[in-house]
Amino acid sequence: MIHRTDPAWQVLTWQQQLAEAFTDPDELLSYLEIDKNQLPPTASAQRKFGLRVPRWFAARMEKGNPHDPLLRQVLPLEQELVSSDGFLLDPVADLEQAPVPGLLQKYQGRALLITTGACGVNCRYCFRRHYPYTRSTASRSRLSAALAYLKEATDIREVILSGGDPLMLPDHHLQELGAALEAIPHLRRLRIHTRLPVVLPDRLTPELTDWLTAIRLQPVMVLHANHSRELSHRHRPALATLGERGVTLLNQSVLLAGINDNVQTLCDLSEKLFSVGVLPYYLHQLDRVAGAVHFEVTDQVALELHRQMSARLPGYLIPRLVRELVGAPSKTPLH
Ligand SMILES: *Cc1c(COP(=O)(O)O)cnc(C)c1O
Ligand code: SF4
Repeated sequence: MIHRTDPAWQVLTWQQQLAEAFTDPDELLSYLEIDKNQLPPTASAQRKFGLRVPRWFAARMEKGNPHDPLLRQVLPLEQELVSSDGFLLDPVADLEQAPVPGLLQKYQGRALLITTGACGVNCRYCFRRHYPYTRSTASRSRLSAALAYLKEATDIREVILSGGDPLMLPDHHLQELGAALEAIPHLRRLRIHTRLPVVLPDRLTPELTDWLTAIRLQPVMVLHANHSRELSHRHRPALATLGERGVTLLNQSVLLAGINDNVQTLCDLSEKLFSVGVLPYYLHQLDRVAGAVHFEVTDQVALELHRQMSARLPGYLIPRLVRELVGAPSKTPLH
């Protein structure tokens, strides 16, 4: 029990910070001192897929700037209601490649678990924004089918925890899941795909680090940041500890019009990632999900940006520019 006089009372846990997240676009805009008349209306898009932004992430946004690249990733806008040919509810055919509910296998040697539908932040361009989480999640109650599949599939070396965001699960649930996975002898690696530590650095608790670094499986954490301003000195200590204790730290970004579609922004992101101990892994061409038409960057522009990045940065700071093509044996590099 923490008393009000205790200095710890001032420090909110990550769960408390999540509970305090902005969910009302008007409140967020007023906090940012942006006149909502400067922006197109949000209400109908908000009803389809609600705003969710932790206060820490909101504090990284520039006040008074309706075009702020962090704000534009999360603010529901009427543009999302524009439909376009080829922009689909399930753009990467997740549901066709799930041998059991909540377990996706598209590529040799690795399987991906949809552990939860919850996220710490709702990204407008999310390719799983229409995913039917209620029936297709390997939640606690449905985990046994996924585990049984993994036990039989002896060619799988790596399990990827995804979602939603797997780090929305409490540490004790992750520990249970990890214990079940490490008991499967042919598994070698455990990978976590997460955006939560980016938007809420306090999620990287000592308990999480202890669990991830004590597990038999070799740990990999793939973060998701799209802009250098999403990362700060607040990320450094926890990521440094993870790195020192053997967790491979990578990042994937999505190339997004108006947010990171210029060479300077992309180079700054790579530099910032490296400064907090993370290597760029993938730069994804947008998955063509219904509601995200206005974020698309053409392949021609994407390739030119990637070429310019390669001319400015060392090779290890250049992410692979890829697109997910349904049926391909891996993410497909752009040429
Ligand atoms: C993207 C993805 C992976 C990971 O691919 P890597 O190239 O190993 O990073 C694995 N499984 C599924 C279903 C994916 O969509
Ligand atoms: S954090 Fe990831 S899964 Fe969640 S809304 Fe954003 S892109 Fe989608």
